[in-house]
Amino acid sequence: MSEIDVECVVIGGGIAGLTAAYRLREHSVVVLEGSDRLGGRVQSQSRGDYWVNLGAMFVAPEGPLAELAHLPGVDLNHLTGKAILDIKGRKLRANSPFDLMVKAPMPVSARASLARFSLRLGRDSKRMHKKGTEGRAYTDLLDSRSAADVFGVSGDARSIVDALSRSWTSAELDEISGAHGTAYFYLSMGKGSHIDDLTFPTGGSESVIHATAAALGSNVAVQTEAIVRSLRSENGIVHVEYELEGRSVTVRAKQAVVATQAFAARELLSGMPPEYIDALAAVKYGSFLCGGIFTNESGPQVWDDYSFITTPGRRLEAIFNPVSVMRKGPDRRPGGSLSFYAGGNTARHLMDATDEELIATWVPEVAEVLGCSTDIFESHVFQRWPQAVPYWSPGSRSSARVLRKSPTDTIHLAGDYLGYPGMPTASLAGHNAGNSVLTRLSA
Ligand SMILES: Cc1cc2nc3c(=O)[nH]c(=O)nc-3n(C[C@H](O)[C@H](O)[C@H](O)COP(=O)(O)OP(=O)(O)OC[C@H]3O[C@@H](n4cnc5c(N)ncnc54)[C@H](O)[C@@H]3O)c2cc1C
Repeated sequence: MSEIDVECVVIGGGIAGLTAAYRLREHSVVVLEGSDRLGGRVQSQSRGDYWVNLGAMFVAPEGPLAELAHLPGVDLNHLTGKAILDIKGRKLRANSPFDLMVKAPMPVSARASLARFSLRLGRDSKRMHKKGTEGRAYTDLLDSRSAADVFGVSGDARSIVDALSRSWTSAELDEISGAHGTAYFYLSMGKGSHIDDLTFPTGGSESVIHATAAALGSNVAVQTEAIVRSLRSENGIVHVEYELEGRSVTVRAKQAVVATQAFAARELLSGMPPEYIDALAAVKYGSFLCGGIFTNESGPQVWDDYSFITTPGRRLEAIFNPVSVMRKGPDRRPGGSLSFYAGGNTARHLMDATDEELIATWVPEVAEVLGCSTDIFESHVFQRWPQAVPYWSPGSRSSARVLRKSPTDTIHLAGDYLGYPGMPTASLAGHNAGNSVLTRLSA
């Protein structure tokens, strides 16, 4: 058995773990990642000039993530193409999530229901954020019911909000708590967010991961395929045991950051106080199924200036044309790439299909929306995320409050489940865990 001594061990090489390591890069750190690549749910693939994202698509340069998104090697762009809503083959332009709702053809009663839903989001979100016991009590009240119940939308309006829930939370509206749904929906659309404000790295979101890993410097060692099996704290020293190529290795560290998904953290922290275990167990995950296609067309296509197409009523939430940013000027290079995905129950129903089955049954829907032949689809890639994005079911969101505090003086948590899930939250949690470690190391 090999043994290593460091100041801090970071378990998990997603954006949360890498942000923690970046914060701690002046100290001796080892990052242990169980899979064969860094990035976790941030994943991209490239072929020549073109790329597809198979995990996170948009990288909002907020908080500590902003610094990483501006590191050398990351080329952050705004969406420049059109945002399109496809309703049964009819293509409408829609530049904000609100537009997507109001432009969908539907009866007046459904439109009124959506307007009430929007107003309610704004009002409830404000009440949840009131300081002190009032905000907390209102959050608990919304948390006790499902988002479907709180939002109270039905008929055509409900199918639009269902589609938004599957697209953003990866879960169904009746699975998520009203508090989770309100905060998540408000963040995504209530502030009047405009689609042109969305930013993404040219070449793929994973470029942020590569750039961060490259910026860690020589004090930080990164080990992939290192599956952590146990973690215990004894006399102020953390002992982490991991498996690497069939060997067992122990790391002794003054401090540890557990930057895995909540379910993996729960396994590793089984000896911790029960309120932490319960809070980690209360974090559920929705599902996404992602696809990518590299195309071989030789000339311009209708979708060249589309950034993405939202496709309600199909087994697809949206199709992205990540390379629309390259389609300026007369030099239209041959080929291209497209990403697409399904969420919630739609993803769960397709999750066990083989790649061949997906190519035969799911991919043709992409061609149908684009109005092209599948003959131009040269190669396909799929990524299944049975546990895609964290959510809280009714009655469980408030249990997460305990997770804001580190479980012990030597072990700190990081991950997107520590706030409203997404890369900015994961990165902020990693940065905060890094700060807690720095405070303890300097004590
Ligand atoms: C399809 C999809 C689309 C998304 N779109 C967006 C988007 O557009 N914008 C956005 O901001 N967010 C998006 N998200 C969410 C975003 O990807 C996540 O919130 C974020 O990447 C989570 O980072 P993390 O570091 O907390 O977790 P992860 O990325 O899951 O990293 C955790 C890491 O821990 C490792 N690990 C687990 N157990 C162990 C163990 N025992 N030993 C060693 N390693 C272990 C895992 O292998 C993993 O690499 C999307 C997510 C998905 C799935």
